[in-house]
Amino acid sequence: MKFDWVIVGAGFSGCVLAERIASQLGQRVLLIERRDHIGGNAYDYYNEHGILVHKYGPHIFHTKSKRVWDYLSQFTEWRHYFHHVLGVIEGKKVPIPFNINSLYALFPPRYAERLEEKLLENFGFGVKVPILKLRESANGELEFLANYIYENVFLRYTTKQWNLKPEELDRGVTGRVPVYISRDNRYFQDPYQAMPKHGYTEMFRRMLSHSNIKVLLNADYREVINDIKFDRMVYTGPVDTFFDYMHGELPYRSLRFHFETLDQEHYQEVGTVNYPNEYDITRITEQKYLSGQTSPKTTLVMEYPQAYVPGVNDPYYPIPREDNRERYDLYLKEAQRLNGSVIFVGRLAEYKYYDMDQAALRALGVFEKEIAQ
Ligand SMILES: Cc1cc2nc3c(=O)[nH]c(=O)nc-3n(C[C@H](O)[C@H](O)[C@H](O)COP(=O)(O)OP(=O)(O)OC[C@H]3O[C@@H](n4cnc5c(N)ncnc54)[C@H](O)[C@@H]3O)c2cc1C
Repeated sequence: MKFDWVIVGAGFSGCVLAERIASQLGQRVLLIERRDHIGGNAYDYYNEHGILVHKYGPHIFHTKSKRVWDYLSQFTEWRHYFHHVLGVIEGKKVPIPFNINSLYALFPPRYAERLEEKLLENFGFGVKVPILKLRESANGELEFLANYIYENVFLRYTTKQWNLKPEELDRGVTGRVPVYISRDNRYFQDPYQAMPKHGYTEMFRRMLSHSNIKVLLNADYREVINDIKFDRMVYTGPVDTFFDYMHGELPYRSLRFHFETLDQEHYQEVGTVNYPNEYDITRITEQKYLSGQTSPKTTLVMEYPQAYVPGVNDPYYPIPREDNRERYDLYLKEAQRLNGSVIFVGRLAEYKYYDMDQAALRALGVFEKEIAQ
């Protein structure tokens, strides 16, 4: 059998493109995935206690893009959900991103009030001030506050997460961590915030249930590709692997996930609690908040940041540093030499952190500009 397209990787990028090519162009797609399931890192499943869990860490859907929202809404109903995060700072749980409520949770009311006034005076209400900017521009009492937040909320969390000091990472990443001059405790402010009602995997299953799409699981494309007849390829795996590491390995940060189910209805007050300062974990997420299920049991997932070792664990976060980007550019040039016979899309193929909505938007854009015309 001949296929018009082989798509490597059944994550957000691969599934969106398979769906578009099959339904809009009427062309035949073979989707090859080396894991034993579709969905990539957004894969979820019901565990032995009937609780919907995210195998590769908590995935919260949020977007500003109506286009992405409308597109995905063809394949799922939604459960509206606002994610809340608390951080343990000096034994107290305070809203993250750090906001005015966090101030009052940590400091005596009079002092918190003074700091609030200073923040409003300097930046205005409703503004997100990157922590590094606050640190640079602050003086007097705000300088104390900026250093306090930097040390207690940002520095150790960042070091734990990346095993690098903030100055060893691109400012773009570290600069994004905001202090939010607001009383809004929601983790995101996007207009669309929701979880797929029946889970991500069910959403992907519906996307792929088209007669033009065949899915091959448990298969590394390199082991099967010589036996397949096809015209063009979309590749969503790691770009350095595709080119046999000819320019060296692109580094990633990995994670180990530890799941635990407790015989109690709830463990914590909100979906996620961050531990910037204590323990080896960065955060604990209680899955039931995300799915909205009721159960006498509850499942937690704890995240332990780790070095990425190819073949041993999974590549999760591209490490945002100038030297890594330069190495990626060498691979990009190799990819361009293939003149569109292979299209590289997604988090691993473009060595770029995408949220799910950004991955979907990018795939929709690639479909329009590089495939459909
Ligand atoms: C811990 C964590 C938490 C996250 N939380 C959020 C969140 O809360 N909200 C949000 O919007 N985004 C979140 N994300 C980002 C989200 O996971 C990505 O946006 C999304 O996974 C990108 O999809 P993708 O298809 O590009 O990549 P992937 O999902 O990684 O899919 C790539 C697929 O290619 C397969 N593959 C690779 N090589 C081969 C090969 N040789 N042969 C066959 N198959 C291959 C892989 O097995 C994988 O399934 C999170 C990411 C991580 C790591």
